[in-house]
Amino acid sequence: MKPLLIKNGRIIDPGQKLDEPGSLLIDGGKIVWVGWGKESPPQTDYDVIDAKGLIVCPGFIDLHCHLRQPGFEEKETIATGTRAAARGGFTTVGCMPNTEPPLDNKKTVELVKATAAAEGTVRVLPIGCISRRRKGQELADMGELAAAGVIAFSDDGEPVKNSPLMRQALEYSRSCKLPVIDHCEDTDLSRGGQMNEGETSAGLGLRGIPNAAEDIIVARDLLLSKLTGGWIHIAHTTTGGAVELIRRAKEKGVRVTAEATPHHLTLTEKMVKSHGTGAKVNPPLRTERDIKALIKGLNDNTIDIIATDHAPHTEAEKHQPFELAPFGISGFETAFASLMGLVHRGDVNLFNLIAKLTAEPAKIIGRSYGGLGTLATGSTADVTIFDPDREWTVDTSKFASKGKNTPLAGEKLKGKVMVTIYGGKIVYKDEGIKVKGVGKGG
Ligand SMILES: [Zn+2]
Repeated sequence: MKPLLIKNGRIIDPGQKLDEPGSLLIDGGKIVWVGWGKESPPQTDYDVIDAKGLIVCPGFIDLHCHLRQPGFEEKETIATGTRAAARGGFTTVGCMPNTEPPLDNKKTVELVKATAAAEGTVRVLPIGCISRRRKGQELADMGELAAAGVIAFSDDGEPVKNSPLMRQALEYSRSCKLPVIDHCEDTDLSRGGQMNEGETSAGLGLRGIPNAAEDIIVARDLLLSKLTGGWIHIAHTTTGGAVELIRRAKEKGVRVTAEATPHHLTLTEKMVKSHGTGAKVNPPLRTERDIKALIKGLNDNTIDIIATDHAPHTEAEKHQPFELAPFGISGFETAFASLMGLVHRGDVNLFNLIAKLTAEPAKIIGRSYGGLGTLATGSTADVTIFDPDREWTVDTSKFASKGKNTPLAGEKLKGKVMVTIYGGKIVYKDEGIKVKGVGKGG
């Protein structure tokens, strides 16, 4: 493969606190040279992408997605899911273990890794179960899972109801230095719930899920983290109350990190009224007040990262009556553009948004995967190039994901991923971008 020069871009690399015009040279899967302003690269034979007017940043890292394989290949496969990830600008994805069989043993983790190596478009980092079969009764063999290379533990989709078991998991996480990713839901309170509990659910005659269902488990697990010194990572934070609990725990030195999803940061429960099952997601879309609190949390770093919770389902499943349709939004291919809405509205600054998609998630997996989430010379060439102002309309028929389930279908978004480079190779390119050869091979 010829070296690739990305020239004339605006390079934003929060990990190095950089935001400057410049150029990057990629060779042998690595970033081998970074030049500022009009500097020219040290060699003359390469392919070129002219990134004038575009932003060049590290490839996005998503630590929460559902690739559905093994077991639910009708919804998504590692092949289709990682192609969708590439289209969304993601070069590394952490996949949740609620597959069938679940990732509660070495063999299944190795199967996912081997499938990803053979058929995947981007890097796949498996997350192992906390409990055997995700039943919440006894711990999975976390030592075996850690040795097999999982980046975290989670029973995502289900909470760990059993407090002593969560305590044990956190004790273990302290010794293996991997986070426990916590799906916070008091399922006795949320049982039968279809959407956020409030005026909208009452008006629609749907059973609601109160904010308290999330806050109670967040509070409990922050206390268990304090008790054990174990690392808790709060998945898909949605309530103002949870943000406040996490903020106070951080002030007291509790070992906690947290994520929020693009849909919870940008959409309210009202979407259920207009978009039906496309907006059915767990935890549910909340209110304008919760969104304000999440954004504040993002800006003061209470919320460390943004993760998609990409959750593809088949059209047949989502076309059922509301009560029967599964929870989830197919998020990879709209995540970044919908987040750019926050930047265009002035709610979040662009540099901070990119940090939450690159340098910050890189810190969380840094122990096992150092050198990701940066454009420093010598690092792996995972690069995303986007146009902050390009408008486009979401057309789910063009999704690489098998999951067309999004309330954003037909919406016009502003901000578009133009090129995704994984390990030095172009894995997604918008039709508008040309790669030109120069030099001898010209
Ligand atoms: Zn979850």
